[in-house]
Amino acid sequence: MKKARALSIPRHLPVLREVGMPMKQQPEDLAILGGRPAFTDPLHVGCPNIGDKQRLFARLDGMLERRRFTNDGPLVREFEERLAKRLGVRHCLAVCNCTAGLEIAIRAAGLTGEVIVPSFTFVATAHALMWMGLTPVFADVDRDTHTLDPKSVERLIGPRTAGILGVHLWGRAFDADELSDLAKRHGLVLMFDAAHAFGCTYRGIPVGRLGLATVFSFHATKILNSLEGGAITTDDDDFAAKVRLLRNFGFAGYDRVVSLGTNGKMSEAAAAMGLTSLESFDDFVTVNRRNHGLYARALADIPGVRLLAYDGAEENNFHYVVLEIRAVQAGLTRDQLHAILWAENILTRRYFYPGCHRMEPYRSIFPDAGHELPATEDLVCSVLCLPTGAAVHTGDIATIAAIIRLATEQSAEIVPRLTATTR
Ligand SMILES: *Cc1c(COP(=O)(O)O)cnc(C)c1O
Repeated sequence: MKKARALSIPRHLPVLREVGMPMKQQPEDLAILGGRPAFTDPLHVGCPNIGDKQRLFARLDGMLERRRFTNDGPLVREFEERLAKRLGVRHCLAVCNCTAGLEIAIRAAGLTGEVIVPSFTFVATAHALMWMGLTPVFADVDRDTHTLDPKSVERLIGPRTAGILGVHLWGRAFDADELSDLAKRHGLVLMFDAAHAFGCTYRGIPVGRLGLATVFSFHATKILNSLEGGAITTDDDDFAAKVRLLRNFGFAGYDRVVSLGTNGKMSEAAAAMGLTSLESFDDFVTVNRRNHGLYARALADIPGVRLLAYDGAEENNFHYVVLEIRAVQAGLTRDQLHAILWAENILTRRYFYPGCHRMEPYRSIFPDAGHELPATEDLVCSVLCLPTGAAVHTGDIATIAAIIRLATEQSAEIVPRLTATTR
């Protein structure tokens, strides 16, 4: 029987609830126009989830008693086993973070030349390729799913293409079958950055079992966290053996180095947090699902504001609450709404503005990449992520939604009063 455990929900004090300040109703109520901010403490996107503290302390205590802090210790092994079981994969190799995991996976796959990757992702996806001496080639994404558009990928396949690195953006399922077919037809390696997608499925298959390998992030801000950390999953025995060597300096035994390697190991303290976080994972998803549903109801029917839905037929972690703001219908731009919410201490994020292709070093290397990426160029200017997770209370969501509604409904009066920089 599953033991019921209390969710530890960090308390912060939303002003509206504490002092009963009425919901904001007119432009003057907005903090950006001189009103009082809705929250005294900032509300973050990706405020870390915390599991059962006592379980964490017990694990750390055991670690200290054993004096075994790293190098494939018992907590790391237990974490790997539990992850592999949950994901249904043969091999799960914990690493110090997702970026190092991507680098190790790229090298273990023996990739050289070019790898096709979305520009609409966190910059680490592209950096990992570049850091390993490969050339990231930016493909466009599908406007609806926000993930790699197979047609754009196919157009970019050339004689130097070695692989495709897909990203399970926002943890939402996307057509991996089509990418898989494409990779097979052209003899390309297919790998995935699943930094957002722990606990998600594609056609009922857990993310982590697709392609040659999948790399997860357990960074503090991700749904499952090990403070810093990540994991590489694969069903390929040879690939797993290579990863094992590469993440530990190429050591095959005491004093025996058989290949180039790096230090990609996960520490025992990280695994202690990871195991604790994993035990509460289903509770985190429950809170995220509740939050997402509340946002969906509260933001319904606002012209120009679309909340990205998750596919009900799949398992989702609901870790990202993603809005698309269409300025023509909403009456204000994404950046204006972002500024209005920041003034209220609602620290929304413009993930993944301005797109990897507009960041260095890629901007200088591929100055014209934008022409090939119409959907990406559109999304980087229209997407806004809202705070969620255990630190966000139900009342907070009503407050945030009411501000978004006020800002859009009365945009004609508000926008001219914003400062020139915001406009
Ligand atoms: C967070 C993130 C990473 C990097 O993860 P780290 O564990 O911080 O290295 C890579 N890709 C995507 C899409 C991410 O969101």
